[in-house]
Amino acid sequence: MPFRYNHVSMTEPPSTTADTVTVEFTVGIGDGRFKATAIVPAGQTNLTQILPVLQSLDNSFIEGVTSQLADAGRFVSCKAGCGACCRQMVPLTIFEAEALATWIRTLPEARQQELAERFHQALLKISTAGLIDRMVDETWFLDNDTASKLSLDYLYARVPCPFLENESCSIHPIRPLVCREYLVTSAPEHCYDPATLQVDPVELPLRFSRILNSIGAELEHESRGWIPLLFLFAWMKADVHPGEAVAGAGPQVLYEFVKRIDQGKPVALRAQQSPENEPPAQD
Ligand code: SF4
Repeated sequence: MPFRYNHVSMTEPPSTTADTVTVEFTVGIGDGRFKATAIVPAGQTNLTQILPVLQSLDNSFIEGVTSQLADAGRFVSCKAGCGACCRQMVPLTIFEAEALATWIRTLPEARQQELAERFHQALLKISTAGLIDRMVDETWFLDNDTASKLSLDYLYARVPCPFLENESCSIHPIRPLVCREYLVTSAPEHCYDPATLQVDPVELPLRFSRILNSIGAELEHESRGWIPLLFLFAWMKADVHPGEAVAGAGPQVLYEFVKRIDQGKPVALRAQQSPENEPPAQD
């Protein structure tokens, strides 16, 4: 069933299985276009449950960008064993928080306890560094200078992400989108001291993490759509399920994400529906 919209066209070829649907879509990004294919559940799902699809699409998009960079002679220097950027404050979208919480609850009790203790110890260090009060202050992100200062102070507190083991990400396949999207072409060691050494980040024309943030912010203004990753275990206690707010058949849920891709900003979508076709539900 083809759908056509201002910024997005999506097609659903015949289902590959009774349980899934293959969706093809194209979106405009600046002067370019991103064409992709995704396999989503045919039946009821929600935004958190289709995160693996979004992670896979993000990987494909990033590979395309880094491949073009390599053709131009710029090479990504990030590699396994370098966890310099894993001392930053990681903004975890509430949907990814929900997915990680669900995953953590499937782990053996001993592993859950170990992770809980790591998060606790990391929070203690951040607290000792005097950063907790600043992080929970809801105004810091409104001002660029304040946000930059907090980000740098957090990095220089040198508190590793609790998921970092032997300087590698222990949750690499399910790591947050923002972690996938942080790439540099400068020397890896420069990321330890960005205030004095030059860091050359890869400028991605599209950040999936920001799209998820914007959807989360529509749901939870007070959380801005994300939490610091370090707050994950505290957040889990509320046992909330933000993904359920964006629920429906797989193609429809994917569409709710894809329609917001317009240079990383949410777009007010007006469907340009082909007469013979019926679009997913609109805002
Ligand atoms: S989740 Fe993984 S990649 Fe992201 S900061 Fe933590 S250890 Fe690093």
